Amino acid sequence: MIYLDNNASSPLAPQVKQFLLEHLDIYANPSSFHTLGKNSRQLLDVAREQVAYLLGGSPREIIFTSGGTESNNLAILGSLPCAPKGQNHIITTKVEHPSVLNTMRYCEKQGWDITYLPVCKSGLPDLDYLTNSISSRTFLVSVMYANNETGVILPIDEITRILEKYNVIFHVDATQMIGRQPLSVSDHSIDLLTISAHKFHSLKGAGALYVKDGTRISSTVQGGKQERNLRSGTENFHNIIAMGQASYLAKTSFLDKMDKIEQMRNHLQNFILHNIPQCVVNGIRAPRIANTLNVSFRGVLGDVLVRELSQHNVYVSHGAACSSGAREPSHVLKAMNLEWDFITSAIRFSFSIYNTQQQIEDLKELLPKVVDKLRNMPE
Ligand code: PMP
Repeated sequence: MIYLDNNASSPLAPQVKQFLLEHLDIYANPSSFHTLGKNSRQLLDVAREQVAYLLGGSPREIIFTSGGTESNNLAILGSLPCAPKGQNHIITTKVEHPSVLNTMRYCEKQGWDITYLPVCKSGLPDLDYLTNSISSRTFLVSVMYANNETGVILPIDEITRILEKYNVIFHVDATQMIGRQPLSVSDHSIDLLTISAHKFHSLKGAGALYVKDGTRISSTVQGGKQERNLRSGTENFHNIIAMGQASYLAKTSFLDKMDKIEQMRNHLQNFILHNIPQCVVNGIRAPRIANTLNVSFRGVLGDVLVRELSQHNVYVSHGAACSSGAREPSHVLKAMNLEWDFITSAIRFSFSIYNTQQQIEDLKELLPKVVDKLRNMPE
């Protein structure tokens, strides 16, 4: 099996699995006052420290959620009620994940004025457009750190510099960055930052929102006032402590392996460009996270190629996993202004530390044959 769909979800790290198994019998509610409850609370506190260590913030700035989607919703919907009168403008980009884009569309219906920044062919946002659209009316700017489909890394530093003169809340969806590139919230003026555990070798259903001290934000869920009253509900205990372990591993070990992943990614990329005609690597002219390779194979339908590869036990994606069921052409590649043929023929290979060079060698054998077969199939 060759699993190259790690941007959709990644395998559980064996160390995280072992840690989970050792703690599965713990059931006391971390909010209970007795000793058992306090023990659970202590483990949650350790996880909070580990996530804070990964992100470069302090533990009190970490709010546990159910994942990237909820963190993005909390960041946007939680901050808007705190907007001063007259600040009714939000800026985002056209290439965000649906958990941001659909939340923005919801806000638009509530009367918010939203600017969707266009991107260039490279996948990078048009920063002149940002400079021209930001004003004293702008309350929130929400951009992703790395794009889930192309791996393109957005210029967070340059964006920060443009925002400096304005009184805005800056939210960054860093879901695809964690464990793939070092990141520290203290290096940038980031107010809110989203992460999701299943993208860095932990379980699905946990994530966090970093909330910089002093950031105006309110709860979107009413209840028992857990998580500094920003996310009511009994904490998803096992999932969160697993994310804590994975955060520690991401910081201390996964990142060291990124050079190896980048070599494998580049090796496959060069092979495709030199051996399979009519291919384009999307996002190649921009900085990209090391694990992502998005390629259009002209003349082939991306979802057909994904299905065919899957029959050979090779697992890749056509666009983003969250929307592939709908078989809609990628909004990211559309925003990059690619020709239609290149949009519909794109697939994404996303690597992890568990891939091997041998797998890439096997894929080099298989891929040209599969592409050739599909290109020569009668209509
Ligand atoms: N943002 C980005 C950039 C993502 O790639 C994803 C997951 N595909 C999410 C948010 C949503 O994360 P989750 O699956 O944890 O809800």
